Amino acid sequence: MHETSLVDALFDQVDALRRPALPGAADPSPAAGAPPFAVRRIEVRIGQAAGVDPELFAAAFEALSGPRGYDQAHLALSSEAALWRCPACATEVAEADALFCPRCDIPAVLVRGEALVLERVELELESEVPHV
Ligand SMILES: [Zn+2]
Repeated sequence: MHETSLVDALFDQVDALRRPALPGAADPSPAAGAPPFAVRRIEVRIGQAAGVDPELFAAAFEALSGPRGYDQAHLALSSEAALWRCPACATEVAEADALFCPRCDIPAVLVRGEALVLERVELELESEVPHV
C-alpha cells in the first residue's frame, strides 16, 4: 500500500524532529532509554491532488504507530484544495473546468494541492518517573 510507505516516511520525519531533544551519548543512564518527549499529536495536510487517500493514510498510521513507538500520538488530518492556474494568463482553473483555461484553451498547471505536508508535531515533556 502506497500510504504505508508515506506513513513510514512521516515517522522518519518525526523521529528526526525528536532526535535533537534526546540525551546525547554521554547520558549516564542508558537504561532510561525512553525519549524524554512523547508525541501527542501529529498534524498532516494532504493536498487533494497528492494522490493520497486520507482514509488509507489514517489506517496505515494506526497500523504503524505502535511498532514505530507512536501509539500515544493522535493523527489530525486536514486537506488542501487543489488549484490549477493557466500558465499563460494566470487565470485560476477549478477542477470542474476540465483543467483547461477557459480563455486560452490550453491546459492549466497544478499550483497547489499536490503535497503531503507534516504541519505540526506536538511534543510533551514527560514528567520524571517517581522513585519507588
Ligand atoms: Zn489562460
